[in-house]
Amino acid sequence: MMAAMRRLPVVVVLGATGTGKSKLAIELGQKFNGEIISADSMQIYEGLNIITNKVTSAEQLQCRHHLIGYVNPFTNTSNTVVNFRDKALPIIERVFAEGRLPIIVGGTNYYIESLLWKFLVDPQVHDKGPDAKKLRMSDSCPVTHESERPLPPGGGTSAPGHPATIDVSSTGSDAAPVADASFEGEAALEDTGEATLDRGKVAQECCKTAASDRGADREGKFKDIDSSELHRQLTLVDPVTAKKIHPHNRRKIIRALEVYSQHGVPLSDILKSQHASAGGTDALSGPVRYDKTCIFWIQCDQTVLDARLDARVDTMMEHGLLQELHDFHREYRQKMQGDCDYTLGIFQSIGFKEFHNYLLLPEPESDTVKGRQLRDEGVELLKLATRQYAKRQIKWIRNRFLKRPGPGVVPVYGVDSTDVSLWADNVLKPACDILSAILQGENPAVLPLEAGGALTEHVYNVCDVCAGRVFTTLQEWNAHTNSRRHKRALSKQRKQLRKAAVLHSDEA
Ligand SMILES: [Zn+2]
Repeated sequence: MMAAMRRLPVVVVLGATGTGKSKLAIELGQKFNGEIISADSMQIYEGLNIITNKVTSAEQLQCRHHLIGYVNPFTNTSNTVVNFRDKALPIIERVFAEGRLPIIVGGTNYYIESLLWKFLVDPQVHDKGPDAKKLRMSDSCPVTHESERPLPPGGGTSAPGHPATIDVSSTGSDAAPVADASFEGEAALEDTGEATLDRGKVAQECCKTAASDRGADREGKFKDIDSSELHRQLTLVDPVTAKKIHPHNRRKIIRALEVYSQHGVPLSDILKSQHASAGGTDALSGPVRYDKTCIFWIQCDQTVLDARLDARVDTMMEHGLLQELHDFHREYRQKMQGDCDYTLGIFQSIGFKEFHNYLLLPEPESDTVKGRQLRDEGVELLKLATRQYAKRQIKWIRNRFLKRPGPGVVPVYGVDSTDVSLWADNVLKPACDILSAILQGENPAVLPLEAGGALTEHVYNVCDVCAGRVFTTLQEWNAHTNSRRHKRALSKQRKQLRKAAVLHSDEA
């Protein structure tokens, strides 16, 4: 049975919201005897079918689905990617063991990553002080809830793409959060553009104890030391990590210093040993979990997708979106007996916050001029947020799947759903052909997508011309040295030097 189960790949369907992921997953599931594992941080919740765009029960009958609607949104608000992964992995093993094909599909790309790559660090194994050198780097670091909330227009967080992590699962031990998602991989050190605001927020709101116990402590110990001094200290104990962190990025510097002070081992060594243990080289991205993976990315022309997403919001409204949100708010108010906390993750997710002001109106006011105005604003905001979310998902796929560095790279095959009338030819058939080839141990006739961009190269540069500004990647450095600002500063400096030289020669 082992042999049979190892011949099967894990199938993954990626794509922005609205590209047809669920449809392709179901079709592949039916054709290839598969079961679907949903990787969607909103579809984990019970109810809320319209706003989370959940597959219908009819669709669920066409192919067995897992991990949909298993979390009560009222009682469990601190669901994490680790909870998800720990539920999903045994399901995948079971599906394999039954000789069926696991098909992972969903819009929460970070959830998918946690299944495909082993890249999370386990804090609990570090408690044994003297054995610090024998760190076993497993992949179960607690990472906070991720419900992919969009940023407000114009940004709003200083560190998009860096999931905030507050250790919530180290069961009362004094293990500090050893590593957070910021250190999980090369790509995680970049700005991937994915919205992660609510992770931090949910962490704060749902894990207040953890936050106050640990977050405050953490600054406490370093609070009188300025960031550049901390960076200098990090350079002494962990130069590899120091090179990758900007001296102003206090949060990351402190985390890296903490890893060192608590475990006596540089974070970079920890990550390196993790990769070495799986035959990896020096890439920071974790080793792959499955030896055979077949990833599809359903692509779609942006303009077409935008229009499709706008239309989907209109359909949601027709299907009773506002009623669903109303009911949810009412139930929540009843349960909380007035002690409502609308900063919780679910209320920060797409769909809730756009209608927040409308939903908080006393019911008789919903059908007034003001009510209708707030409702219409909500619709427009939801459309905007959905389009922005789709763009971030695409950026995430590019940065984290296609450009993944080192040995953890897996081929991603593109299919195109721009013209839905050509679905069978442009999406289903190519996907079936590729998967059939892989199942037969052959190379698919089409090539996987190219990364379409250079990997981030970490090089530490200081620009003496521009008052010692620091750059930690080659890309940033190149962009800077080509920037108008730098060139202006450079020519100014040259002029001054020439002037000084002239003065000097005059004196001589
Ligand atoms: Zn410069």
